[in-house]
Amino acid sequence: MSAGARAGQRSPAAVDAAKARLTGAGLRPTRQRLALAGLLFRGRSRHVAAESLHGESQVAGITVSLATVYNTLNQFTAAGLLKEVAVDSGRSLFDTNTAPHHHFFYPETGTLHDFPADSVVVTGLPRPPHGRQVAAVEIVVRLAAASGATSGVTARRGEAKAGRRKDF
Ligand SMILES: [Zn+2]
Repeated sequence: MSAGARAGQRSPAAVDAAKARLTGAGLRPTRQRLALAGLLFRGRSRHVAAESLHGESQVAGITVSLATVYNTLNQFTAAGLLKEVAVDSGRSLFDTNTAPHHHFFYPETGTLHDFPADSVVVTGLPRPPHGRQVAAVEIVVRLAAASGATSGVTARRGEAKAGRRKDF
């Protein structure tokens, strides 16, 4: 990471980049949009919940309400700067990587991990309704602890019980 990137959204180069990104997407670069874009688009691509971005903005000294964060995330999504990934009913994460790709979802932590679009072949999709075409197929693979790992725990518990029985 360069020194400029470490300096965060306050560096003039980063502000210029955020401004160019917003105007390029047809959004007026308001102070709040610029500040949130500075937080969102620094460094590597990531998946952000509105609440966590609101928390980050408070840490960065940006005065913005949670409602404004939501509105801004939705505006950025509509403008194509973000992709919304619905992970649970009523809960979305916003992805700064707008290129086609899929996700693993970890319910325990509420986090997403990318995997490449070309690592999956989707066949047998139903024909789209009349007048419609498939724009994208984006997969969220919901993860749980592997059954092998679960049985491992059971086995260890069994061994522990057996051990205790032996002690008795
Ligand atoms: Zn992603």
